[in-house]
Amino acid sequence: MSLGSSIITKIEYFRIPPRWLFLRVETKDGLVGWGEGTLEGHTEAVEGAYQDLAERFIGWDADGIQDIWQHAYRARFYRGGPVLMSALSGLDIALWDIKGKKLGVPVWQLLGGKVRDRLKVYGWIGGDKPRDVVEGAMKRVQQGFTAVKMNGTDAIGWIDSPALLEETVNRVRDVRSIGLDVGIDFHGRVHKGMAKQLAKRLEPLQPLFIEEPLLATFPAEIADLSQTVSTPIALGERLFSRFDFRPYLEARAIDIAQPDVAHCGGISELHRIASLTEMYDVALAPHCPLGPIALAACMQVDTAAPNFFIQEMSLQMHYNEGADLLTYLVDPSNFDIKDGYVDILNGPGLGINVNEQLVREVAARHAEEKAWRNTVWTGPDGSLREW
Ligand SMILES: [Mg+2]
Repeated sequence: MSLGSSIITKIEYFRIPPRWLFLRVETKDGLVGWGEGTLEGHTEAVEGAYQDLAERFIGWDADGIQDIWQHAYRARFYRGGPVLMSALSGLDIALWDIKGKKLGVPVWQLLGGKVRDRLKVYGWIGGDKPRDVVEGAMKRVQQGFTAVKMNGTDAIGWIDSPALLEETVNRVRDVRSIGLDVGIDFHGRVHKGMAKQLAKRLEPLQPLFIEEPLLATFPAEIADLSQTVSTPIALGERLFSRFDFRPYLEARAIDIAQPDVAHCGGISELHRIASLTEMYDVALAPHCPLGPIALAACMQVDTAAPNFFIQEMSLQMHYNEGADLLTYLVDPSNFDIKDGYVDILNGPGLGINVNEQLVREVAARHAEEKAWRNTVWTGPDGSLREW
């Protein structure tokens, strides 16, 4: 074990399909750490932030994770938000990977050790506009999942036809009848007048949770909604630090926190959010419709967090066109699913090995292509609807 400093000599990023942004950090003593700062639909903005982080932190000691985190977060006056925090997240994850590799232990050892041996997981079914959920659900059962998540509704108006809600209830009933637990993502696209109706109608089907029942801009309204149903309320993918979680916890608005390790400030901040939410008896279910590096980073925290409940994974997710969760892994068995669980990662650092040659080849091949964008939805009157 080397106790000498590990000076950062190189910070590179790779834009690769399906919509991911990987970060590679190298040190003078030859250590390499991988991070992921994917911010779906805003890739170029994070790339710009990475250019700045490279300029600032090349020459710093990679061991100083918290010092670098504080400087990246606080030293330039403006802070927080999706772009800056996704960039910081990728850097933080890479630094933890380096530290774990340097000491020859998985990151969860550095977070105090494991509190479990395997992690409950869920996959996605049904796509952006949920259809054919039964076929998708059967596929997930065959893959070993016991829980899935699906979008609640298609694009929906501020106040829309109640008939539209019936379709959602029927789809959820179909999936539940297969024997799967199901989380319902309202995706922040359902407005209050419809969300409270939908939550009520879904309640008898006992969803695992309803996610982003309203946009995260409405903590008081989400707290009100949470009083009307017994279904657990989940939220957090569009919150970017422990400070952003505070109002939802103080308002008793959520039962499940869903920070995204690639947006919330990396392993350091996800670990802190886990402790913070535990104080409010809120469970941790890290959001992760992203790539293998983000998933491995989540799993490191999940392994050590007492209030961890379930981990999202993007295996065969509808966005994964051109590459899937396992594509860039040297050993795809890292994420094998059995009876609804994956084993904790025991290798050093993040516990996965990234196929660097493939990442470089694919990034070079797609260098001229436009970055991924989400679709923009409009209603029948031509006005914008939430995606
Ligand atoms: Mg969501």
